[in-house]
Amino acid sequence: MPSRVDEKRKRIARILRGLIAMYGPRAYERAGSGVDVLVRATLSQNTNGSNSERGYRMLRRRFPTWEQVADAPVREVQREIAICGLARVRSYRLQAMLKRIRDERGGAIDLEWLADESPEHAFEYLMSFRGVGPKTAALVMLFGFGMAILPVDNGILRVVKRLRLVRSKARDLEAERVLSPVMARGSHYALHVLTFEHAKEKCRPRNPKCDECQLVDECPFGQRRLRHAAPTGGDRDDEIVRVRRRLARFASAGLARRSPRSKGDASDEINREITGSEAR
Ligand code: SF4
Repeated sequence: MPSRVDEKRKRIARILRGLIAMYGPRAYERAGSGVDVLVRATLSQNTNGSNSERGYRMLRRRFPTWEQVADAPVREVQREIAICGLARVRSYRLQAMLKRIRDERGGAIDLEWLADESPEHAFEYLMSFRGVGPKTAALVMLFGFGMAILPVDNGILRVVKRLRLVRSKARDLEAERVLSPVMARGSHYALHVLTFEHAKEKCRPRNPKCDECQLVDECPFGQRRLRHAAPTGGDRDDEIVRVRRRLARFASAGLARRSPRSKGDASDEINREITGSEAR
């Protein structure tokens, strides 16, 4: 009898096939040296992709080597990465990180030795830098070294929860710990990149495009949502009346007194009920 791990591995393989059918295959591409990816990943925290990429490029243009970044006046580093936000904190941390690597590696700012380490040791080492959390460490391991780990951001977490690959209360680190070991070797990069894209394209926080999604057979959330798809025309008017009645019942049960709502909030609630929400 197949074990639960085997079942999950097969489900993940089917999900990956569905993602490839929607967005095309993704072959592993190294994003740069270990240090390049580490700096890129730290600059991408709490900012959007285009700003962090611009900050990274400006930094590299002004200081072509990591030695120059480490030894530059901190204000100059700060100026180059200002577009990423939190530039003061980031520039101090960045220089401290580069200097520590140099001290530990006998003068070279280099992380290539991590390729020969176990994923557990690489993760532990990266997490020991100030400002590096589980997602950043996992990004460096995957994009810098092609290790078998699934970095989980908010979008990926939403998708894997909807697919019930992890429990609904799981956080990013738990999702990474649950999924990385059961995924087939060589599938981590494609699954990360495609799930990231899927979270933006179709499996959006609100109004996911389940009717266009090839994962619906694997997705309890999507199936439930499609069963309760928003009606149109006259059906929609009936639905509005039905939802208003339901809200009125809540209000008379005391909900309104505990949590007063404006008229605008109430109509938002009605729209949410009609179009379906993540809570459903
Ligand atoms: S069916 Fe809907 S909820 Fe499920 S993965 Fe696809 S878009 Fe997301």
